[in-house]
Amino acid sequence: MKKPLPALVPLLSDDTDLKAAAGVRCDAGIRLVCGESTFRAERGELQITGKGISGIPVFQISSEASRALDEGRRVFAEIDFLPDFTEEMWEKEKSRRLSEDRNCMLGIFFLGLVNRKVLDLLLRKQGIQAEKKASKVDEDTLVSIMRDMRSFKVRVTGTGGFEQAQVTTGGIPLSQTDKDLMSVFCRGLYMSGELLDVDGICGGYNLQWAFTSGWIAGMSAAGERSGGK
Ligand SMILES: Cc1cc2nc3c(=O)[nH]c(=O)nc-3n(C[C@H](O)[C@H](O)[C@H](O)COP(=O)(O)OP(=O)(O)OC[C@H]3O[C@@H](n4cnc5c(N)ncnc54)[C@H](O)[C@@H]3O)c2cc1C
Repeated sequence: MKKPLPALVPLLSDDTDLKAAAGVRCDAGIRLVCGESTFRAERGELQITGKGISGIPVFQISSEASRALDEGRRVFAEIDFLPDFTEEMWEKEKSRRLSEDRNCMLGIFFLGLVNRKVLDLLLRKQGIQAEKKASKVDEDTLVSIMRDMRSFKVRVTGTGGFEQAQVTTGGIPLSQTDKDLMSVFCRGLYMSGELLDVDGICGGYNLQWAFTSGWIAGMSAAGERSGGK
C-alpha cells in the first residue's frame, strides 16, 4: 500500500514573514519546486494565511507537496503575483519603472503592481520599508524586488493534515486490483473511492471517482458485471 497522505489541503510554512501578507487573496500563478523537480504551474485565487498558503491553486499542488514532504524533501511553492504579464510585457514594465523618477517612497514606486500587503512582504525580505525613498535603494535591490513579484519562493514545511484535507493521496495501488476492483491478493474483497491510490485535482473528479468506482465494485461484488468473479 502506498502511504495515505492528506491532499487538496492548505500548505504550511515556517516563514514568519508571511504574516505581513496574512488575509491577502489574489490571482496568482503557483508552481511546486522539490529539489531539482518542478511540477506543473497552477493559477487561481491564492490565499495567504498567517500559517502558510491556501486556495484552489495551492490545493492543486498539495498532493505532490504532501508526498515530497513525507519523503523528507525540501519543498517550495514559487508564486507569480503577476500572472497576466508575458515575459516581454514584464521586461518593458521593469524598464519603464526603473527609468522613472525615484524621488518617491517605494510604496509609490511600485504602485499598481501587487497588493500593498504583498509588497510589504517582499520589502520585508529585503529588510526595507515601503516608506523608504526609491532613490535611496540601489538598482539591484529594486530589480530583485521585481523579480520576487514573479517568482517568490515560500518554503513549505507541512500541510493542514487530514483535518483540513479534502481527499487522501495514496492507498491501495490499482495494480493490486483487477478490472472489477477486486483485490488480487484477497478474492471477494472489492475496493472503491479513497481506499484506492487515486486522487484528482479540484473540479469534482474525486466524487466522480468515488461514484464510478463504487458502482463498479458494488455491481461486481453482486455478480452483476460480466467477468466479475
Ligand atoms: C470538505 C470536503 C470537500 C470536498 N469537496 C469535493 C469536491 O468539491 N469535489 C470532489 O470531487 N470531491 C470533494 N471532496 C472529496 C470527496 O468527498 C471524497 O473523495 C469522496 O467522498 C470519497 O468517497 P468514499 O466513498 O471513498 O469515502 P467517504 O465519502 O469518506 O465514505 C466512507 C464512508 O465509510 C464510513 N466508514 C468508515 N469506516 C467505517 C467502518 N469501519 N464501518 C462502516 N462504515 C465506515 C464513513 O463513515 C463514510 O460514510 C471533498 C471532501 C471534503 C472532506
